[in-house]
Amino acid sequence: MLLHLTQTHQQLQETAREFADKILIPSADRCDRAEEYPAENVAKLAELGFLGILIPEQFGGAGLDNVALSLALEEINRGCASTGVTLSVHNSLLSNPLLNFGTPEQHERYLPKLASGEWLGAYAITEPDYGSDAASIETSCRREGDEYILNGTKAWITNGSHAGVIITFATLDPSLGPKGVCAFVIESTFPGFQVGKKEKKLGIRGSDTVQLVFDEMRVPAANLLGEEGEGFKIAMHTLDGGRIGIATQAVGIAQACLDATVAFAGTKTQFGRPLPASQLVAHRVADMATEIEAARLLVMRAAMLKDAGLPHGKEASMAKLYASELANRCARTAVEIHGGAALGRGAPVERLLRDAKITEIYEGTSEIQRLVISRHCFPRDKK
Ligand SMILES: Cc1cc2nc3c(=O)[nH]c(=O)nc-3n(C[C@H](O)[C@H](O)[C@H](O)COP(=O)(O)OP(=O)(O)OC[C@H]3O[C@@H](n4cnc5c(N)ncnc54)[C@H](O)[C@@H]3O)c2cc1C
Repeated sequence: MLLHLTQTHQQLQETAREFADKILIPSADRCDRAEEYPAENVAKLAELGFLGILIPEQFGGAGLDNVALSLALEEINRGCASTGVTLSVHNSLLSNPLLNFGTPEQHERYLPKLASGEWLGAYAITEPDYGSDAASIETSCRREGDEYILNGTKAWITNGSHAGVIITFATLDPSLGPKGVCAFVIESTFPGFQVGKKEKKLGIRGSDTVQLVFDEMRVPAANLLGEEGEGFKIAMHTLDGGRIGIATQAVGIAQACLDATVAFAGTKTQFGRPLPASQLVAHRVADMATEIEAARLLVMRAAMLKDAGLPHGKEASMAKLYASELANRCARTAVEIHGGAALGRGAPVERLLRDAKITEIYEGTSEIQRLVISRHCFPRDKK
């Protein structure tokens, strides 16, 4: 339990915890096995107001902060990481940049529908050939009168086939590098927008991951987000917030691994004594519990800095790096302590092991987080 949580924070956390225990944990295995988008969960989260956590009350949202978002995301991801990433992308990668960089007209048009859940949000920067190296994207944009025309393919886009509104990125001229990148708010009904192939995945199988194809897609000039050439800056700023969301997801998965391990070991007897009586098992559980608290504090520190309007890029990367690698360690430990029982289909730790892996990859791999953190350690290397 962290100190200084407001009553609102505590209530939100309690609501999310109850939702995870009653709705998500019992259905997470089914969602994973069927590789089915958790539409019912998302609709219920919309009813609870979780799709508008960061959106001001004047637009129908809850008007809360990033600490609130992290408290909610940890619980939701503890219950079901497929539902958790859906919520994280909607709030951190769509609502957040729209709030930060959108015009009053863009706020009026999009925020109420995002807050109510009428429209789900997505964020599309990755392309088949460019993930970590996002400044090299090839999706092109050109201005024609009151419109921009976009051509290209985006890959691995979470929420892509269910989203009504998406923030995407395209270049005016690849030779300009990051300075040529523009950000756009697009709608799935824009002419030339198509949903491409659906990805089949190792983990978070219930989440919606697709390619998006822009074929002479016509985007009103009013849907440019920020100024021409500001897209890369917007993308990186947005990912700082998104990384707090994925770090939180990793803490939720790690906590689920700990909960499952404690529940399993508590009922198991080996060599004539309960499993927790073995010091080896007890110490591994103690290490998990301690490291999860450390990861949670890193997440909260990054969220608090963001809420205070202070630089938080290094802290977000540290939280994501530490929490995602921890989630994978916890998942491996949980599987090992479960023994053979872990490998049966329907054992929660089998799914958690698969779900944990992605937290080390999306929104910047562990290598990219180390690169970001090291640049802060050697400030003269910063460009
Ligand atoms: C399930 C899933 C959901 C996703 N959701 C979204 C989404 O909603 N929106 C979106 O835009 N993208 C999304 N992505 C894409 C994701 O962000 C990228 O996969 C990620 O950024 C890595 O890019 P890549 O896959 O192209 O790998 P690459 O960039 O090709 O990297 C391959 C390997 O090289 C390493 N590497 C690359 N550059 C360096 C370097 N400079 N130094 C050291 N090592 C390096 C990487 O760490 C990695 O190990 C998603 C991906 C997945 C799998």
